[in-house]
Amino acid sequence: FNIENIEYSKLQTGGNNCFGCVSLRQKQYCILNKQYSKEKFFELREKIIEHMNKIPYIDKNGNVYKYGEFFPPEFSPHAYNNTFANFFFPKTEEECKKDGLQWYQSDVKEYPITILASDIPDNIKNTTDEITKKIVGCSTCPKGYKIIKPELDLSRRLNVPLSRQCPFCRIGDKVKKWVSQMKQVDRICDKCGITFKTHYSKEEALKIFCQPCYRQEVY
Ligand SMILES: [Zn+2]
Ligand SMILES: [Zn+2]
Repeated sequence: FNIENIEYSKLQTGGNNCFGCVSLRQKQYCILNKQYSKEKFFELREKIIEHMNKIPYIDKNGNVYKYGEFFPPEFSPHAYNNTFANFFFPKTEEECKKDGLQWYQSDVKEYPITILASDIPDNIKNTTDEITKKIVGCSTCPKGYKIIKPELDLSRRLNVPLSRQCPFCRIGDKVKKWVSQMKQVDRICDKCGITFKTHYSKEEALKIFCQPCYRQEVY
């Protein structure tokens, strides 16, 4: 669907010129999910923006949220360290408290660990069905996790060992990698010497080619 001029809204499919709406489909000239005429919409929108700029929301640290700013993070129903934001702009628990952000603390007491991740066999052939009855202690965080039968069956079929990390740490590692790939660095092509942008750092790839040189070399 084409979609344009949607402000402070979420989950809209299709439409245009909406302000502060949620889950609208193919709508136009709506404010807070209420339908207005085209004229009334632009009149009200201007008034709201003027109001946002004149009496902006100011958080306890003095940050001013005028028209055009994102919503204040302290309004978020999610714990900061449970969102992607923490991968891009990491904050400590103390910093979150200072900024009025929620912090997620895992309750480790809920999971009485019955086997350590380090005791999972290196070879899947040495893992018995008993493992599905255990609560495995994650190798990188205090959480416990379970292995379900379909997961065990898949590992056996692929002939790979079971993960020593809980699902949260596995997803976390993936996201960390994804975030690191969004940061670009300047590198010099080892073949032709031009400078180009890439997400491969010197640590990841010592030798690197620009795209034309790479294509020439590979194809
Ligand atoms: Zn974990
Ligand atoms: Zn090159």
